Amino acid sequence: MNSKNTRSKKSKSFSLLIVPQSNDVKQFNVASWIPKLLILLIIITISSSSYFIWDLYTSFSDLQDDYIVKSKRLDTLTNITTNQKEEIKVLEATISEFNDELESISELQQTVKSLVGLDGQPKEESKESNDSSTESKNTDAKLKSSTSITRGTIPILRKDSLKLEDIPSTQIQINSISQMLEKSQTDLNVLIEDVEQRLDYLEAKPNLEPTKGSITSPFGYRKDPFTGGTDFHSGIDIANWYGTKVKAAGSGVVTFAGYNGSYGYVIVVKHGYGYESIYAHNRKLLVKVGDRIKKGQVISEMGSTGRSTGPHLHFEVRYHGDPVNPLTVLNNDD
Ligand SMILES: [Zn+2]
Repeated sequence: MNSKNTRSKKSKSFSLLIVPQSNDVKQFNVASWIPKLLILLIIITISSSSYFIWDLYTSFSDLQDDYIVKSKRLDTLTNITTNQKEEIKVLEATISEFNDELESISELQQTVKSLVGLDGQPKEESKESNDSSTESKNTDAKLKSSTSITRGTIPILRKDSLKLEDIPSTQIQINSISQMLEKSQTDLNVLIEDVEQRLDYLEAKPNLEPTKGSITSPFGYRKDPFTGGTDFHSGIDIANWYGTKVKAAGSGVVTFAGYNGSYGYVIVVKHGYGYESIYAHNRKLLVKVGDRIKKGQVISEMGSTGRSTGPHLHFEVRYHGDPVNPLTVLNNDD
């Protein structure tokens, strides 16, 4: 009975021996459930630690994936930004070029205008003539419109480098330049019309010296070479040899070519813009009524027909029917 109790007591406990090298062996009796509890605790600890580590690993993995995605996105954005910066540089250069172009167009317009004398308001063109009154009015209106060209209204661009936040203002500038280019194109078209009309006018105006020679009688009141009394000389006399070439002082249409009393063989040319020119005392006429002649075209040969004392050209210029001093017309640049 006693031994049975001892066995059952022994089976419910462990003996723990500590065996040092020098001293006596020490023995501890430990209840048998304690190691079981310890093993259970160890299992629980390992399990929870494993779960924790797995969870940590999963979270880290997620974070890593997220990081890769975001990193790629960042790379893309960086590339986009770099590209945009490049585009802005190109844009900046383009704007600068446009600006320069606009300025040169504006300068060119001014140069062309001053070359053909359109920078001022010519007196002649604003006045009406019998055959081209409507034309003159149109010219006048166009002259006024063409004076308001784009000069001075070109937008001033920033000199420093453009930044991303400058894009809206860059867009505004591009729009502005685009509008300016459109206006410039319109202005140029108006200018071309003005220049064409101006060239027509300059071609028509009788301001070319009609012949070579010396002026023997000026325009205005003078002593009459026949009567000795005072009379009004409606033109200038240019003396030279018989047969000296006489040229049209401006382009126009021959309205008279024939013999007419004291004028002798005479040519009358209508130039438009209110101008007419008369070439008298010719020996020979080289054009006929209705001929459309060019400025500088030879129209006759100098002679002494009609009321004349020697070979000379009586050159007369009429403006709206009234004789004006031909020298004034010849020397006037407008
Ligand atoms: Zn005369």
